[in-house]
Amino acid sequence: MTRVYMDANATTPLLPEVMEAMRPYWMERFGNPSSIHLDGQQARAAVDRARATLAEFFNCHDAEVVFNSGGTEGDNTAIFGLLRPGDHFITTSIEHSAILRAADRVAQSGVEVTFEAPTASGLIDPAEIQRALRPETRLVSVMLANNETGVLQPVEEIGKIAKAAGVFFHIDAVQGAGKVPFDVRRFGCHLCSISAHKMHGPKGVGALFVRRGTPLEPLLVGGTHERRQRAGTENVPGIVGLGKAAEMAMRSLEDGIMERVARLRDRLEAGILELAGTGVNGGWDGDKAVPRAANTTNIWFDNLEGEALVIALDLKGIAVSGGSACHSGATEPSHVLMAMGLDKTRARASLRFSLLKTATDADVDDVLKVVPEAVEHLRAISPVAAGTAG
Ligand code: PLP
Repeated sequence: MTRVYMDANATTPLLPEVMEAMRPYWMERFGNPSSIHLDGQQARAAVDRARATLAEFFNCHDAEVVFNSGGTEGDNTAIFGLLRPGDHFITTSIEHSAILRAADRVAQSGVEVTFEAPTASGLIDPAEIQRALRPETRLVSVMLANNETGVLQPVEEIGKIAKAAGVFFHIDAVQGAGKVPFDVRRFGCHLCSISAHKMHGPKGVGALFVRRGTPLEPLLVGGTHERRQRAGTENVPGIVGLGKAAEMAMRSLEDGIMERVARLRDRLEAGILELAGTGVNGGWDGDKAVPRAANTTNIWFDNLEGEALVIALDLKGIAVSGGSACHSGATEPSHVLMAMGLDKTRARASLRFSLLKTATDADVDDVLKVVPEAVEHLRAISPVAAGTAG
């Protein structure tokens, strides 16, 4: 069996078109966009073209796109760039660690932080954000799609609340970008982070939308790059790759590719749920489906260790994740699932399947063939099963 990669929320491969677009900028067109000679001008033109594509992607002005090193930098910039001692900051307990650890750091320097908990279905309730507002609240940050459950957060409603209260609103859209229709004006945000490697672009490059007039202090200072918002010679091949990836993502949304991915995800999910002692984390609110990114499902399996199942599937050629990639290898259960109210045993026994845009029916067939065998085997030998049975 060829390998089946179902860990797209950790990272994605380049699309061939992205690779081709980047290729000239490593060698023949290696110029520095700040140089005034022809080589520099060619690099500048490539960065400008990518900026125009990203502006279309975000639905913003070219001058509102700041290229950076990815999601972590965008998230950190929003928090460190806006918050000062005495400010109040509202975020959620299901954010990526790029937000959570930055929030911890500003909390140590005198910013009050409120972490809103999700409902059991993984949703953040906008009414809770409304209730948490204080006169000193300066920033609200809520993710678009959760990396572990895929649950889409009601960012438009939160954007309206932030607007009415006159507070800044940042969206970590790293997992939503390329998967759902995107429009920062509709979202009503001032800042929005995306990362190329989650949408079939290269690693180590991303963009932050910064609405005109947002008083954001840069994280990096030095040269005058990116209108003084992010110093450092531009990663030209990376930026070109991000531009191409954004163009391809816009096209695939129009072509209905995500609907096809959703159908594959649903077939995969239904197939796994035929096994006894399984269920979806964050898919449902009672009998009402919760909106999710089309490619993601997070499933619990009773009476086994999630990590053991990840390894067993890997040995059979299937790549999935037991939580966010940044935490794999650690034995701590997922903070997202814990915040949703799962107990530690069930959180540890949960797996995330996240499909690539290029996933096929054959991939789903392969996974549905292997998972039941692996689960049955692990349950037969699992100390967790023995413990609960006894
Ligand atoms: N935010 C979310 C929701 C993510 O899933 C990730 C990566 O997993 C990041 C931020 C960090 O992005 P990057 O890997 O580009 O730093």
